[in-house]
Amino acid sequence: MFTSLAGRSVVVTGGSKGIGKGIARVFARTGAKVLIAGRDAETLAAAAKELGVAHVVADVSHAADCELIARTAMERHGGIDVLCANAGVFPDRRLAEMTETDIDDVLGVNLKGTMLCVRACLPALEASGRGRVILTSSITGPVTGYPGWSHYGASKAGQLGFMRTAALELAPKGITVNAVLPGNIMTEGLAGMGEDYLDGMRAAIPMRRLGSVEDVGHACVFLSTDEAAFITGHPLVVDGGQILPESQDALGVL
Ligand code: NAP
Repeated sequence: MFTSLAGRSVVVTGGSKGIGKGIARVFARTGAKVLIAGRDAETLAAAAKELGVAHVVADVSHAADCELIARTAMERHGGIDVLCANAGVFPDRRLAEMTETDIDDVLGVNLKGTMLCVRACLPALEASGRGRVILTSSITGPVTGYPGWSHYGASKAGQLGFMRTAALELAPKGITVNAVLPGNIMTEGLAGMGEDYLDGMRAAIPMRRLGSVEDVGHACVFLSTDEAAFITGHPLVVDGGQILPESQDALGVL
């Protein structure tokens, strides 16, 4: 029913681990030509080998590195049809202890990095004729809050502000700009936290399971299809119902 994505060129920033790796894996399964980007060369090369995709070492908080990502996709895959701007960091710091550097670092990667990557890939996305941009935002910031993550929440809500105007500006070029808002997703980083901790996270989710990285990947694939061409500027929550309960009671009586 959906048009195949086989042969499309897909860039996934932060594709060496976690959600980005899941997104890259799902796109690779569709037959798309995938390029992943990240800072740590060793982790990135290992992920690229495992997934059978191309890779480029790049830090999205630097404009020159974002240009390198776009150039590498052009050289390796002849263009860019889909950009998944997924790279992100989430250091925990209460507002009272937060330094200017903490704020700059989180906004620099999550918000500025998103904007720089989209800008760098624009000419190729326009040339594609069916360009797709998918930002990995979060429920934290746009919908919910979490102590220690005020800078992170601001960056993730900021991505949606960016998305709306970018979607407007790029609509006449046939490029859609959407966002996925993951809830609690099971990544390698969470695996070592112990079952008690994970049980607590599961208990907050009406579907009683953590999301998989592929759950987020499938949402990205859907937004990349030709059939999703009329959806733009949309924040798509992928959270198993986590944001729905209006109170602890609503969750408790399930
Ligand atoms: P993760 O496992 O720590 O992976 C983050 C990825 O981003 C890695 O590949 C990392 O590689 C890369 N990265 C970080 N900073 C970068 C930079 N400056 N330039 C290029 N690459 C960079 O994190 P995750 O949990 O998968 O999170 C991925 C995205 O999902 C983030 O935007 C996060 O905010 C969002 N999210 C996650 C969850 C969740 O439950 N996990 C929920 C909501 C939203 P290097 O460190 O080697 O650069």
